[in-house]
Amino acid sequence: MQPLQLDLINYFIPFTKYPYEGSQVACPVCASEQHDPVATLDRRLKRLTTCVCSHCGLLFTNPMPTDDELAQYYSRYYRLDYQGARDTPKQGHLSKRIGEAEARAQHIGPQLIKGARTLDFGCGTGEFVANMLDAGHDAHGFEPGQAYGRYAQGKLGDRIRIQRWQEIDYPFTFDLITCFHVLEHLKDPVVALQRMVSWLSPGGLIYVEVPNMGSTLPCKGFGGLHFAHVIGFNYHNLVYAAHRAGLEPSHVHSDTGIVFRRGRLSEPNDEAKRGHDVAMSLFGNGNATRNYFKYQFSKIWGRPEPVAI
Ligand SMILES: [Zn+2]
Repeated sequence: MQPLQLDLINYFIPFTKYPYEGSQVACPVCASEQHDPVATLDRRLKRLTTCVCSHCGLLFTNPMPTDDELAQYYSRYYRLDYQGARDTPKQGHLSKRIGEAEARAQHIGPQLIKGARTLDFGCGTGEFVANMLDAGHDAHGFEPGQAYGRYAQGKLGDRIRIQRWQEIDYPFTFDLITCFHVLEHLKDPVVALQRMVSWLSPGGLIYVEVPNMGSTLPCKGFGGLHFAHVIGFNYHNLVYAAHRAGLEPSHVHSDTGIVFRRGRLSEPNDEAKRGHDVAMSLFGNGNATRNYFKYQFSKIWGRPEPVAI
C-alpha cells in the first residue's frame, strides 16, 4: 500500500490556491484568445480561476495546469482525492459504475451489429468493456491510471491496456468508441476527438458523455467547478468541439450524452454562439456566485428550481 500522502491537504484548505503554477492558455476547443474570468472559487471554496471563451462559451481553468502538473496530480492524488481510493477501487465505486455501464449499453446497444468491435477510451475499472463483452461484442479499453487499469486487466486480461491516449495505437479500427466522463479532464479535447476519429471504422460511432455545465436544474454556479475538470461543456459547445474533429450528432441521449458520426454541421458558428450565450447566462456577470448561493439556499428548503436562461 502507498504511504498516506499528507500533502493531499493542499487540495482541500478553503480560500487557498491549488498547488500548481500553470500557464495562460487560449480556448482549448476553438483557440480563441478572448475570454472572460467568471469564477475565482470552486466547489471546495478553493481559489481557482475559471474563464468563459468569448467565441464558443467553453469553461476552462486559466491559468491551466501544465502537462507535468496534471500528470503529477493524476499519478499521486486523483483517485484518493475524488474517490477516496488508494490502491484498489472501493466497492461503492464499482457498484455505481456497473449501473452506469448498463444504462449506457441500453442506449447504444440497439445501434450495434453483433460482434461489433468497441473501444472504451479511458475505461476506468472496465465495467463498460465487460458489458460489451457480455453482449457478444469484441470489446477493448484503455486506462492511463495504474490502479484502476490493473484492476480492469485483472478482470478482462489483455483487452485492457494501461496507457495514455497520446501514446496508444491499435492495428485495427472500431465500430464504436465510447468516452465517458473523460474529455472534461483534458486540455486538448479536440485533438483527443480527432484521435478517436482516426480509429473509427467507416460508419462507426463515437459516444461521448461529459458533465453538463449548461444544466439549469441544478445549476450550482461555481459549486459545479472543480480542479480535476479543467474544461466544462454545455450541449452547444460539445457539439461544436466534435464538429472541429469532423463529427456531427447522430443520437442525442442527453444534453451532454451524445452519439456522434462522421459529418459536418451546416452552421457550426451558431452552436458556438449558443454555447457562449448559455455559459454567460449561467456563469457570466456574477451569475457563477449568484447561482451558487441560490442553489445552496434551495437545498435548505429542498426545492431546487431551474435557473432561467
Ligand atoms: Zn472557444
